[in-house]
Amino acid sequence: MAVEPETGITEGGTKGRFRDVLARDHARRGKPPVHFADMTADERIAKASELGLPKFRVNQLARHYYGHFDTDAAEFTDFPAAKREQAAGAFFPELIHEVTRQVADDGQTVKTLWELFDGSKIESVLMRYPTRTTLCISSQVGCGMGCPFCATGQLGLTRNMSTGEILEQVRVAARMMERGEVAGGPGRLSNVVFMGMGEPMGNYKSIVSAVRQISAESPNGFGISARNITVSTVGVVPGIRKLAAEGIPVRLAVSLHAPSDELRDELVPMNRRFNVTQVLDAAHDYYRATKRRVSIEYALMRGINDQPEHARLLAKRLNHYGDNWVHVNPIPLNPIEGSKWTASKPEDEAAFLDILHRAGITATLRDTRGQDIDGACGQLAAKQR
Ligand code: SF4
Repeated sequence: MAVEPETGITEGGTKGRFRDVLARDHARRGKPPVHFADMTADERIAKASELGLPKFRVNQLARHYYGHFDTDAAEFTDFPAAKREQAAGAFFPELIHEVTRQVADDGQTVKTLWELFDGSKIESVLMRYPTRTTLCISSQVGCGMGCPFCATGQLGLTRNMSTGEILEQVRVAARMMERGEVAGGPGRLSNVVFMGMGEPMGNYKSIVSAVRQISAESPNGFGISARNITVSTVGVVPGIRKLAAEGIPVRLAVSLHAPSDELRDELVPMNRRFNVTQVLDAAHDYYRATKRRVSIEYALMRGINDQPEHARLLAKRLNHYGDNWVHVNPIPLNPIEGSKWTASKPEDEAAFLDILHRAGITATLRDTRGQDIDGACGQLAAKQR
């Protein structure tokens, strides 16, 4: 029997009317080196003992990693000098290597392109605001969901990222903030959103492990409140339901992009597997289980999904479940060059918002930080190929 490649084939997505779109070079690529963040507590202790290190050294390493964002042997001054290099090499292999860094918004937006161990490229974007600093991270190399308007969707899915690869994006950003490497002086990374490359629910185990390590207090995690973490999905219903059962109060963001199945089947192929009603039912159940308002992401595309009838239908469908359970974030599409999908006219955006507001729906036009550095997800990686 053929061996299934180790990749993010979406649960419930290989049969029926939806299949993950796979990249041309999708193949078994081997696994990234195992990192401290990938190990259980017992595995860390066993690894330490292989190196002749007692158990308490593992706690010291956790404090370096989660508390001080350090992986560099030179920083392990509380370690026996002879063991520093060996411990750093065994627990903290370099998983993400910076290729390029682009800066915008007067230095307050930093977009980084990373290379992984197998040459794959992913990206993350750090955005500093007056009262918070948000990091947008990737969870898969490419994306298998195949949304036709999205640059990442054109890449297809190459593979899932490991927990260590996901977490390293957070550690580096937290360290940049602590060291004052982002305009505005030293500060603290306060929010993390899984809205970079990939469908987080297609890599469920790794993202949940990452969420736990981002939110746990030091020395078990970075101490960023789960309430400040957002997990997005294009509507993978089994993933939404599993996440609701985890008991972690993260915010759920659903990329809806269309209020009817007819239109959404075209914009978001996953809709053929889980339709608008199924997705909204699951999102509302998530709200009931966690008491966290759900975000509805809606990329406004000129003449396609941005007309008054779309806003009215969206409001009706959301109000069907009651008041105050969602927050809609319409965002002007950042178009792929040469594509037929373009951004809405400002007057259509304003009218769309107005209809939602009049229907009692909370909605804010999401700001488009980083647009002048190709801030739409996936574009930077797409250009490097
Ligand atoms: S819009 Fe999101 S889910 Fe769709 S292809 Fe792009 S990254 Fe994947």
